[in-house]
Amino acid sequence: MAEIINGKAVALKIKGEVAERTKALINEKRVSPKLVVVLVGDDPASKTYVRNKELGCAEVGILSKTVRLPSNTTEKELIEQIRALNNARDVHGILLQLPLPKGVNEVKVLNEILPEKDVDGLHPVNMGKLIKGEADGFTPCTPQGIIELILSTGQEISGKEAVVIGRSNIVGKPIALLLLQHNATVTVCHSKTKGLETVSRRGEILVAAIGRAEAIKGEMVKEGAIVIDVGINRVNGKLKGDVEYDSAAERASYITPVPGGVGPMTIAMLLRNTIKAAELLASK
Ligand code: NAD
Repeated sequence: MAEIINGKAVALKIKGEVAERTKALINEKRVSPKLVVVLVGDDPASKTYVRNKELGCAEVGILSKTVRLPSNTTEKELIEQIRALNNARDVHGILLQLPLPKGVNEVKVLNEILPEKDVDGLHPVNMGKLIKGEADGFTPCTPQGIIELILSTGQEISGKEAVVIGRSNIVGKPIALLLLQHNATVTVCHSKTKGLETVSRRGEILVAAIGRAEAIKGEMVKEGAIVIDVGINRVNGKLKGDVEYDSAAERASYITPVPGGVGPMTIAMLLRNTIKAAELLASK
């Protein structure tokens, strides 16, 4: 039976480290790190995420502000808002909460965020730095959190066969690159992959980021694998991961639960990216 990877506990430890760095920056440089979240429209899930980000900031002493814009905000107005935040000296991190309303070009607006303040790591400059392994870039939060969870097991990543299921820009692609940086042998699967069951069974590390409740069954898990379930799917009012937990836990050596696994790590990593942005901007 697999050991449960406790995302809440690992996130708490990281928040503690961020709180220390925040205190040091305030004391030594008189700089108060600040995150601004831009929320357009009134998507209920987005509102919850934004609230959790505000609470996370408060926990570690990072200042936070949410700019709330109506759903009929135009692309031009949104870009003007981003440019104002780029120019604001007291703002160190900018996060544009997705999804954006229809008619607004997400890529165009995201690309307006100054790479130095892009704490979500979605700007092409930061994506490029991730590919090249340049340490001063910003990596998307969820994949960074996944690496921390794997490391928390005490198991080596180097030399392991890793299988990532999903190839989104926010999870699948960046986690594949991070695992590669840690010297894993990485296979990326997606909706057009043939024989997914066979490929997924190769993974000594298996990361599921598909967005389909319990799509990964126990028989798709290698005996002794480290299983990271990124999925958040609402089924009859309950949260379900992308992995069928009970059958997968019988074969895995370590597994993340949903909720309480990857979820808490995403916010912890956002806070870590924000303190990093503030430290880098303060050192210029
Ligand atoms: P996405 O929809 O952008 O990407 C899904 C990926 O899965 C695609 O690349 C697609 O090719 C692949 N896929 C779909 N069906 C497949 C199949 N049958 N076989 C193999 N691959 C298949 O999703 P995303 O943004 O990467 O999110 C994935 C999941 O992770 C969602 O449930 C999302 O809610 C969750 N998520 C959680 C967090 C967190 O903080 N815990 C953060 C981001 C995303």
